[in-house]
Amino acid sequence: MRTVVLASGNRGKLAELRAMLAGLDLDVAPQADFGVADVAETGLTFVENALIKARHAAQATGLPALADDSGLCVDALAGAPGLYSARYAGRHGDDAANNARLLTELANVADAQRGAYFYCCLVLLRHAQDPSPLIAEGRWYGRVLHAPRGAGGFGYDPLFLPEGLDLSAAELDHADKNRISHRGLALQALLQRLHDERRHHAVLP
Ligand code: IMP
Repeated sequence: MRTVVLASGNRGKLAELRAMLAGLDLDVAPQADFGVADVAETGLTFVENALIKARHAAQATGLPALADDSGLCVDALAGAPGLYSARYAGRHGDDAANNARLLTELANVADAQRGAYFYCCLVLLRHAQDPSPLIAEGRWYGRVLHAPRGAGGFGYDPLFLPEGLDLSAAELDHADKNRISHRGLALQALLQRLHDERRHHAVLP
């Protein structure tokens, strides 16, 4: 089985990506398994940060690397927290504090103005110098609730009501979330790319 290093320490993402890739002959191993530390995310867009993270992991391990850069973009906040979703309240990965800040920022915003989408950019670098990485994106539209609902998922899931559903992202079954989410859509697009490329040459070593 081929190993691809996941350029992220986020357990929620790793679990989702592993579940979505089950059945393929790919083992997605977190970069921490190889002693790779997080790199500074200095880009100004999701795609730049995904490239920075994937290149860093590929360089450090000599393996193909998959990176996900994702976040929640809220219309009424001009796209915030966006790139800074993981550290919206200051401390990286403090989901409870991030959710609390989001509710405070939207305290006086009515339902009709609470539109938002989750965005995910996935990058697969075959090696650190790969000049033509596979890049895919996904968007998941919905709105921000007034109070958290549900105990599943991670991050902003309890505050996100997907368009057309009566369940928050945290109330959805894992498999259902993975089918329709920004990460699920980006991964489906990436797998299609991999499939197309394989007709021409072996994509992964
Ligand atoms: P990154 O690790 O820099 O890409 O930060 C992603 C951040 O965006 C996470 O820490 C979450 O706060 C948020 N996020 C991304 N995807 C999801 C999701 O599927 N559900 C909830 N929050 C998410």
